[in-house]
Amino acid sequence: MTRWLAEYAWLPDDAEPTPDVLIEATDGRFTAVTPLTGGGPPAAGVEVDAVRLPGLTLPGLANAHSHAFHRALRGRTHDRRGDFWSWRDLMYTVAARLDPDSYLALARATYAEMALAGITCVGEFHYLHHGPDGTPYDDSNAMSAALVEAAAHAGIRLTLLDAAYLTATVDGEPLVGPQRRFGDGNALRWADRVAAFRPEDGHVQVGAAIHSVRAVPADQLATVANLAERAGVPLHVHVSEQPAENDACRAVHGRTPTRLLADHGVLGPHTTAVHATHPTAADVALLGDSRTGVCLCPTTERDLADGIGPARRLAEAGSPLSLGSDSHAVVDLFEEARAVELDERLRTRRRGHFGAVELLAAATVTGHAALGWADAGRLAAGFRADLVTVRLDSARTAGVPPVGVFFAATAADVTQVVVDGRTVVADGRHRTVDVPTELRDAIAEVTS
Ligand SMILES: [Zn+2]
Repeated sequence: MTRWLAEYAWLPDDAEPTPDVLIEATDGRFTAVTPLTGGGPPAAGVEVDAVRLPGLTLPGLANAHSHAFHRALRGRTHDRRGDFWSWRDLMYTVAARLDPDSYLALARATYAEMALAGITCVGEFHYLHHGPDGTPYDDSNAMSAALVEAAAHAGIRLTLLDAAYLTATVDGEPLVGPQRRFGDGNALRWADRVAAFRPEDGHVQVGAAIHSVRAVPADQLATVANLAERAGVPLHVHVSEQPAENDACRAVHGRTPTRLLADHGVLGPHTTAVHATHPTAADVALLGDSRTGVCLCPTTERDLADGIGPARRLAEAGSPLSLGSDSHAVVDLFEEARAVELDERLRTRRRGHFGAVELLAAATVTGHAALGWADAGRLAAGFRADLVTVRLDSARTAGVPPVGVFFAATAADVTQVVVDGRTVVADGRHRTVDVPTELRDAIAEVTS
């Protein structure tokens, strides 16, 4: 058994953190989570045989939307007046350079950066399937296997959301150039490849994804949705990230992307719509009524000038909200979480849309559920033993009450990370990966 004594811990559904909490785990799961004092400031004299966790300890953070290779683009897309589509051109350039070995190195470093930020589980929305001209590797899931291995090295869990990416436009233009390596030809061949990938590792689940209504023809949406439903795995889909996507979908199908997905059986409680930045009021109702989750990626949405999605309206309609760092312009779920509230303030010129408890849930338990890990994201007996400790004595957090951490801390304030009972980050350092050096080398490999 392992025992930790948290100076403060945020227990399920509590309005604020509790001082002096003894946390016990065996075989990667919490066996008991016990407050030792009756509230008030931490008792200085509490003596327990346990690893001390100074600061605030949270459940593991879930990054529900990632494209690992986009990490190589950080800081490289601002020097000319680029738009979304010129950003995408550079993304394709990097995509064209990757092979299973270089992707393993880049993803390992990127996932280790996530571990340093307190992320214990990532949802990798994966579409870089084949060789550069579209020819499958000898192992047609070699790129998937590289991502699984990368997450194992980084010490975090992975939900590999294998994305069907079949066409270049809503009206079915074929994939060309760098896009060719994304495609399996049709949804049945995509399904055959996904079904053949059965990693045994305990840190991974395989889920499904529809890249977007642009990339999967309407008559093949149900094939992907049916596979996910039969397998009982999460299904993710980019939805209405850009107004241009809505316009193209209306022009071809006479309805919005959300309506099209609903009409082909894609929506539901096991589905997560990523972004949902530009839904109509009817779309919001379709998402909420079907209990479809929505993954917000505010730092990417601002980086790409996508706009501000209607987060409060989506939540009120019934969609559970999760968070993703998507393009990794920033890997910091504290920043993603507070942006959900702060962006609403900018849009409405009012404060107070989301409380700290809602932001905590989006960053933890709801994100894990969206990735198929219903037994993670809460400090409670029976749950996976994930712990993220945030220091309260840094220049950013000193003097901040523990309840205010989501409006003050950054990823750099994470000192200790435990995943499934194993310590992955201690004293702010990854235990096995030299993260800055590996990021520098892996990015140089695909950009120079
Ligand atoms: Zn994305």
